[in-house]
Order: sequence, then structure tokens, then C-alpha cells
Amino acid sequence: MPAIVFRSHADSAEQWGANLKTQFPDIDFRVWPDAGNKADIDTAIVWKPERGMLRQFPNLKMIVSLGAGVDHIFADPELPPGVPVVRLVDPWMANSISEYVALNVLRFHRDDPDYVRQQAERKWNALPLRETTQRTVGFLGMGFMAGDAAAKIKPFGFRIAGWSRTPKQIDGIDCHHGQDGLERFLGRSEFLVCLLPATPATVGIISAKTLAMLPRGAYLINCGRGAHTVEADVLAALDSGQLAGAALDVFRTEPLPADSPLWNHPKVFVTPHIAAQTNARTGAAVVAENIRRVRRGEPPRDAVDPAVGY
Ligand code: NDP
Repeated sequence: MPAIVFRSHADSAEQWGANLKTQFPDIDFRVWPDAGNKADIDTAIVWKPERGMLRQFPNLKMIVSLGAGVDHIFADPELPPGVPVVRLVDPWMANSISEYVALNVLRFHRDDPDYVRQQAERKWNALPLRETTQRTVGFLGMGFMAGDAAAKIKPFGFRIAGWSRTPKQIDGIDCHHGQDGLERFLGRSEFLVCLLPATPATVGIISAKTLAMLPRGAYLINCGRGAHTVEADVLAALDSGQLAGAALDVFRTEPLPADSPLWNHPKVFVTPHIAAQTNARTGAAVVAENIRRVRRGEPPRDAVDPAVGY
């Protein structure tokens, strides 16, 4: 029976080991760095593997990311060639992202930051309520996560726009793609939600240049990756009024350094990369299905394309 090597935090190893055991009672689950005989390992389940770790298993058949993004795996320049890298596609995680997106779109739409401030000042002042049907939520990245979030906020009446690498046609979504479609997409996105993967093509995409293409007074909701933003440009856009507010879950450096001006900026909501979290209970069922496929000799589901990095 081939073995699995797991690399993440110690408490998550315990949870994943227990949940995978419910799928495979006789599982051989080894926690890195105690991998035993490395030739036994056919599956690596990892979060932020250290450089050179994965090339040490000569019979590795699949590398599973413990997250929807795989940038933490491609950060290793010594990955074993030809071994499929699989991202975690867990509907529970997509639902968590949708909660985060809905929370922040609605709190900006309903001027919640102003009402919190007014309450602190004991000020009774009704601001005009805007119509959702006149406001567009634009998703940078129109994949699994964004698709779920778009479907869940659409019933409030918002217009939805999406931007992807390849052309798409999705009912009820104003779809744009590629560099040529970016400016038109940004020009209508009053709420810009980033759910892109971090790849060489998307790093730094939220910059002074692209922020200037948004309608004045737009809101930024970044639950993609910190590398997507040029943080100094986001701060400048907030200070100039080009951005009216930002909800940021991911940062260039995590944890966000104590001296970052983002922490106490009056227009910024900071959360510690929790828009979604990996869930051992729901995730183990998804991963187990892929382990079964690979052990039957079939290709895994949700393998990423190394050429594009997602
Ligand atoms: P998918 O692979 O399903 O979707 C990615 C989307 O981004 C696709 O629509 C893709 O286009 C688009 N895209 C990729 N590269 C480009 C490009 N160069 N130009 C334009 N569009 C591009 O991923 P998921 O939806 O599952 O996850 C997206 C990301 O969300 C993750 O990679 C991760 O960074 C982030 N995330 C953050 C979490 C958090 O807690 N903050 C939790 C989970 C995910 P196309 O459709 O044409 O391929």
C-alpha cells in the first residue's frame, strides 16, 4: 500500500490524518519530516512545502495543495517534473469566500463604515440609499470561487461583471477577458473583487494604473493574494478618494507587519487571510476521491497547468 506524506501545521496534520482515515481505514499517513522510506510515498499533501522537499520522493504521483491556490508550490524551483499539481476545489471553501465577498460588498454598499463612525459620534444622519441594480460588482478572475460568489450576491440585484484569461459566456454576467478587456471591465466595476491566482501574469495587477481605470470612489475587496496589489498604490488611491474603501484579506507580507499603515487606515478593513480556510472534514473527502483515481491509474481532477501557473 503506497503512503501519503503531509506537510502543514501540526494540528492540521492530526485533523487531516483522522479525516483521511475515515476514507481509507488502513491509510499510511506520514507527517513531514518523518516520511520514512521516501520510495513508499505516492501522494504529497502540502501547504508551503520547503524548497527541494517534493523532489525527494522518487515514486510521487500527485502533489495536492492544501488550498485553492498553488503559488506556494510553484515557489519551489526544484519541483519534480511531470508530477501533477492539484488544487483543492472544495465547495465549502467557495461558500466561505462568498460569505466574505457578500459581507464586504454589502457593508460598503450600505455605507456601514459611515454609520459606525456616526454612531461613535451619536450622530443621527440618514445617507441616501443607492440602488443595487445601478451598481456593478466586478470580479478579477471568474473561476470556481468567483463563480460561487457572483451567484450568491446576484439575487440582491447587483450587476455582475467578470474578467478572465480566456473568453467566457455566463448567463447574467458581463464577461471580459485578456489585457484588451481589462480597461472596459474596470471602468464599470464599482466594487472590485480580486479572486485571481497569483501567477507571473497577475502579480502587481492592482496598481496605480489599473486603480485609475475604476470609477471614482470605487471599493476594493482583495481575497486573491497579497502579491496582486501594489500596496503603496492602494494607499495612494484611498488617500486621493479614487478608492472609497478597501477590505483586504491578503497582503504582500503575511502576517501584515505591525508598522504597516494599512492597520489603522480609516478606510481599510484588515483580516488575517481568513476569507476561506482549509477544512479537513470537507477537504479530506475531495482529496480522497483524487487519491482513489490516481491509485486506479486515472489522471487526477483539478490538476493545474504548470505553463500558466494555476
Ligand atoms: P480558478 O482557477 O477556478 O479561477 C481562476 C480565475 O482567474 C479564472 O477565471 C482564470 O481565467 C483567471 N485568471 C488566471 N490568470 C489570469 C490572467 N492572467 N488574466 C485574467 N484572468 C486570469 O481558481 P479559484 O477560483 O478556485 O481560486 C482563485 C484564487 O482565489 C486562488 O488562486 C487564491 O489566490 C484565492 N483564494 C484565496 C483564499 C483566501 O482565503 N483569501 C481562499 C481560496 C482562494 P480562466 O477562467 O480564463 O482560466
